[in-house]
Amino acid sequence: MIDTHAHLFDDRFASDLPAVLARAEAAGVERVVCLGIDAESNRATLRIANSHPLVVAAVGIQPNHVAEAAPGDWDDVVRLAESEPCVVAIGETGLDRYWDRAPFALQEEYFARHIALARRLGKPFVIHCREAEADVVKVLRAEFEKHGPVRAVMHSFSGDAATAGACLDMGLYVSFAGMVTYKTAQQLRDVAAGVPLDRLLVETDAPYLAPVPHRGKRNEPGYVVHTAACLAEVKGVPVGVIDEHTTRNAKLLFGLE
Ligand SMILES: [Zn+2]
Repeated sequence: MIDTHAHLFDDRFASDLPAVLARAEAAGVERVVCLGIDAESNRATLRIANSHPLVVAAVGIQPNHVAEAAPGDWDDVVRLAESEPCVVAIGETGLDRYWDRAPFALQEEYFARHIALARRLGKPFVIHCREAEADVVKVLRAEFEKHGPVRAVMHSFSGDAATAGACLDMGLYVSFAGMVTYKTAQQLRDVAAGVPLDRLLVETDAPYLAPVPHRGKRNEPGYVVHTAACLAEVKGVPVGVIDEHTTRNAKLLFGLE
């Protein structure tokens, strides 16, 4: 299994990251994609990926952090993405209308930069979308019409079936996190049921939003198995089938071996 989205640089992992990754491996996780959200976490992500064979990296400036980005921070993203072999994707990037932390126009400008960088380097990009589904689909549609199928993932998907359908039509992958396991998330499970196995990904978004039965605790990559088990139930297939497909999809999208 591959945890396609985690933030291992978080302080909550500072004291026990090797143990966290050992537990992930014991649970059957063969790779973790660690995503930076700003200049400092991008550098930390690189340090982690370069010292743990289980971890690969993505670099970017997350939409809620674009306002505080210093001059040079974007150049750093570009430099790391161009020069570091463990960088497999660009992000996380995207749009967020839930937190009012950065002017929306600035988020849009950074989203466009990430997409252009990903295209130039032939790497996928990772999309954060919170209460901005229509805006994100509009940007992706423009990209799709100009350049064809979009090599990207909608991370921790929380939109509706129409949004998922629009993304699938443009070639994207749809990734589910712990939220899909929550009792009240039947609507999201219904959306997941409609995502074909060859476009499905799983993730933790650790340290946030741990899946049931760990809800409320610090999330960690090994817990991705609970999200996979939930998706297996939703789709009426053995968990091995979810494991096999999501692993293959993640390897294809991120170019992993
Ligand atoms: Zn994230």
